[in-house]
Amino acid sequence: MSLNQALLELNDAFHETDLQMPALFIGHGSPLNAIEDNEFSQAWIETGKALPRPSAILCISAHWETIGTQVTAMEHPRTIHDFGGFPTALYEMEYPAPGSPELAYLTQESLSNVSVRLERSWGLDHGAWSVLHRMFPEADIPVVQLSLDRTQPPLFHYSLAKHLIGLRRRGVLILGSGNMVHNLRMAVVQDGAFDWASEFDERLQKLILDGNHQAIVDYPSLGPSARLAVPTNEHFLPLLYTLGVQEPKEPVRFFADRVTYGAISMRSVRIG
Ligand code: ZN
Repeated sequence: MSLNQALLELNDAFHETDLQMPALFIGHGSPLNAIEDNEFSQAWIETGKALPRPSAILCISAHWETIGTQVTAMEHPRTIHDFGGFPTALYEMEYPAPGSPELAYLTQESLSNVSVRLERSWGLDHGAWSVLHRMFPEADIPVVQLSLDRTQPPLFHYSLAKHLIGLRRRGVLILGSGNMVHNLRMAVVQDGAFDWASEFDERLQKLILDGNHQAIVDYPSLGPSARLAVPTNEHFLPLLYTLGVQEPKEPVRFFADRVTYGAISMRSVRIG
């Protein structure tokens, strides 16, 4: 038995059950959603209330890209204010959820096909806490982040997620946080959607409903709207983790499903 397995045996928080924890992708959009009461933050609150209580949360955020795959393994992750030019209130926000070295080990073991480094200096970036602050305001559920290896292609991320399916039976909420359409260069300070943004958002909706993950992983082949919707893929890749932990024929539902600022899709997905 490895040291990590021994530690897990000591902690029965992650025992297997018959319950398959749902998995989520949240379109997080502006950091302001953490403090503004709007249709998106309201949808996150309702989504959190409707979930069974997770044993812990494994968050894959657009805002933590690394070389190689890493997982946070500290007892007390700090709140990272990784944005600029926002109101003071946002910089004063703290999300003091505990970490979970046990879940970090369990994640490392689940992903034994790749080298996963235990990381102790990151914390919770706004892709994680701006959403979790709404979903679980008590901040009493342990949160671990899994990084995005920026050197790897989309298929790597989707395939990696397949190894995380078992965590769902241990009560772990897999939470991808990004945006299916995310083009800040073309975004405008008003509500509404550019045609190409709506087109790509609706295309993804259909592909997700059809379970056509292959086409989603191969998104650059989806045409000109894909190039505009995903100019860089860090906000798109977390979706591949959420879809990667979907069991065959598992139900899917959407919420907060519309485009705003012209070029940001807030479409969010609940699996299971
Ligand atoms: Zn973001």
